[in-house]
Amino acid sequence: MSEIAEREQGIVYCGYATLLADILEEDMDQVKRHFGFPVEHRVYCLYCGDRLPRSRQSEYCSPKCRNQSRYIDVACDQCGNLFKRLESQVVYHIGKHGYQHQFCTRSCLWKWFGRRYGFGVHPEHARHSTRKWNYAVIWQLHLVTGLGALKLHVYLPSLPLGTLGYILAAMRKE
Ligand SMILES: [Zn+2]
Ligand SMILES: [Zn+2]
Repeated sequence: MSEIAEREQGIVYCGYATLLADILEEDMDQVKRHFGFPVEHRVYCLYCGDRLPRSRQSEYCSPKCRNQSRYIDVACDQCGNLFKRLESQVVYHIGKHGYQHQFCTRSCLWKWFGRRYGFGVHPEHARHSTRKWNYAVIWQLHLVTGLGALKLHVYLPSLPLGTLGYILAAMRKE
């Protein structure tokens, strides 16, 4: 095989192994070994940069580093603080809604939401309609946070879980 063809094949292997590693949530080197792709010898941990133990057949020095590598820094939309969030979660919500606001704490979420939509700490009671609960506000909250009924219920304990589920389902149809 020519040098160029060999290199190109290497790039294809590399891209394919990355994809498989993401899908299988496995270390890249493990995936490469399993599927018989060429494995380059890695000396340092991908996350912390420490030297890898000889015996360790992984890209990370420890399960902790492997776990940490799944988180990315995101900035809070209210206060600007950087905090960690699972990369897969961020990607999932962006894929689902095209965007996602990030908040480091519940209080930042409420501050941002209140300022933007013009009410205080109990948006579920904001009265702009004849309904007992303000469906539009709850729907906005769902879109902005990417949270489903179960998690919204944690933020809005005064609103029964069943009602929340009903409101989201109703708004989805509108
Ligand atoms: Zn490490
Ligand atoms: Zn914040």
